[in-house]
Formats: sequence, C-alpha cells, structure tokens
Amino acid sequence: MQGNFFDIGVNLTHESFNLDYKEVLEKAFSNNIKRICLTGTSILDSKRCLEIAEEFKKNLITSVGIHPHYADSYDELAKLKILELAESPIVKAIGETGLDFNRNLSLKENQIISFVNHIQIANNLDLPLFLHQRDAHQDFMHCITKEIIPSKGVVHCFTGSISELYDYLDQGLYIGITGWLCDPKRGKDLEKTIPKIPIERLMIETDSPYLLPKNIKTKNRRNEPYFLPEIFNKIYDLRSESKEVLQYQIYENSMNFFNLNE
Ligand SMILES: [Zn+2]
Repeated sequence: MQGNFFDIGVNLTHESFNLDYKEVLEKAFSNNIKRICLTGTSILDSKRCLEIAEEFKKNLITSVGIHPHYADSYDELAKLKILELAESPIVKAIGETGLDFNRNLSLKENQIISFVNHIQIANNLDLPLFLHQRDAHQDFMHCITKEIIPSKGVVHCFTGSISELYDYLDQGLYIGITGWLCDPKRGKDLEKTIPKIPIERLMIETDSPYLLPKNIKTKNRRNEPYFLPEIFNKIYDLRSESKEVLQYQIYENSMNFFNLNE
C-alpha cells in the first residue's frame, strides 16, 4: 500500500529486540512505517530509547517518563532526570504515564503522584503526554481534569467503553488504537467504538512487542512495527472514509500531535 504510517508506540528496548532491533526497524521502514515514537517506561529505559532514536534520527522520536508500573520509583531525582533527558530535541513526548489499577505493580498513591507530576512536567515543557489507563478511569479523569492539560495528550492502547471515549474527547485527548482491536474476542466491544472516534483524533500504534494482531502468525509471538498496517486495515473496515483519506489523516494527526513537520 502507498502512503505513510506512523507507529506512535513501540517498546523497542524490550529484551526481545536486543539482538535485532536494527533489522526490526529497517523492516518496518520498508513497509512504509515512516515514523515511530519509542515509549520510555523508566529513567534507564528512556535513556536507552533516546540513544536508539539518535541512531535513527530521520525516522525515530521518543517519549521519556515513568510507566505507572514503576511509579514507586518516581521521586524528585527522577523528575530532574526526566527534565534533563527532555532537553534533547528528539524527545517529543512525556510518558508513558497514567494509572494502572489492574496490576497495581506500584502503590495507587504513588501512581497518582507520579502521574500528576508528569502532567505538570509536560505542561511546563509544552510537550504532549503519552497516557496509559487501565481499570482506573475515575481516578485518571480526576487527575487530568484537576491539572487541566493545556498540552496535548493521547490515551494510548484505548480499549474502553463509549462513555470513556467521550470523557477523553471532552478533554481534547487523542485516541491510540492497538492490535487489541484485531482480537475477535477481546476487540468485540472496541469494534463498535471505532466509528465514533473523530478522524482528527485517531492515531495507531503496535505497542510492540506486545499485542500481536491475532490474525498474524509468527514463531515467537513477538509484535513488530512492521505489522502496523494490520491495525489500520481493521480500523478502515469499521469506518466510512476512503483508505487514502483515513491513512493520510491518521499520519497527519500523529505529525501534528508530536509537533513534527517532515
Ligand atoms: Zn501502556
């Protein structure tokens, strides 16, 4: 297919990519995945993302931040490190941050403190937020409405209900869709929500190496940015726009979201 794709969330520092991340990227580029935003999940990990993004400057950008799973490690020093890393022009977002009360790998109180601080950092630096929410919708909404997000934000890997979708849209947030949608069982409810997302708020992501689209068979079950068009095609099937218009707009949304201009 012609036209460009933008994968807004890839965990390329995951150990499953250690040996071949360069090949993984080249393979993706050859499939019109022109831009990728790497997802920073801890201070150390964000540093590594930045190094990789520097290697592939033309196509990669990164976020820096602390995932809710690691929110227990958020403190003043961590904040300084995030600010320091964010000085690089290749850092285009703050996150992944948010709340995950599904696994609660960090204390709820600490997740909220870390989240609110990430929002303030993003606002001060005028960078968009890469947001994660699982089983924590009420508290998540409380945090973002209390802080008011003048900078942009994307709820990545959106799998929520229609009313959750409207809550996010009301706050001006963007919606990131993953291969979760391609799962005939788990993606059933999400299918009904996809047509309700305004085209100018829609973005796509593989969240590699997680969430391999169900219809794709690989030996190791590892997801890659190469498979991003699978998610796009599924969204296209559920909506009314032409393929060209949908693909163009999703790419433009991503470029605008991260404040990129070619
Ligand atoms: Zn996430």
